[in-house]
Amino acid sequence: MAGNITFSMIKPDAVGKGYTGKILDRFISEGFKIKAMRYTRLCKCEAETFYAVHKGKDFYEPLVEFMTSGPVVALVLEKENAVADYRTMIGATSNPAEGTVRHQFAESTRLNAVHGSDSDENAQIEAGFFFAQRELL
Ligand code: ATP
Ligand code: MG
Repeated sequence: MAGNITFSMIKPDAVGKGYTGKILDRFISEGFKIKAMRYTRLCKCEAETFYAVHKGKDFYEPLVEFMTSGPVVALVLEKENAVADYRTMIGATSNPAEGTVRHQFAESTRLNAVHGSDSDENAQIEAGFFFAQRELL
């Protein structure tokens, strides 16, 4: 299983602007299978924990504020080479290339529409942060 899943989130900016359906359609059309999905909302403590690796950076507090500003869609996606293929599909954090999800839907480096795990190990950790084991079978 390791290597075949990634954790994804549609962030509050994109959910708020009504892009959820279009973004899910893109994921599916690129061959990702939805293994788990939840429409939810993060409290401050959850957003701080989720992005703890960035604690102390200048963008950390505004990031936490942004991530708690509205509902999100949390997903576990399955595909061969899921982490790398998903990161290619969404594009870079800043100046995402044309054709990527962030190029289409992000409005800035911070308000960048989607999250994606950066390693197989973090995919497992992030999936476990949002979903129970029985939801990931
Ligand atoms: P994510 O982890 O959400 O998939 P990422 O891996 O592309 O994004 P990270 O470096 O992990 O980027 O940063 C986490 C999030 O913090 C970014 O997605 C963005 O919302 C915000 N962020 C990162 N760098 C900046 C910055 N220089 N200015 C403003 N916000 C930033
Ligand atoms: Mg990241």
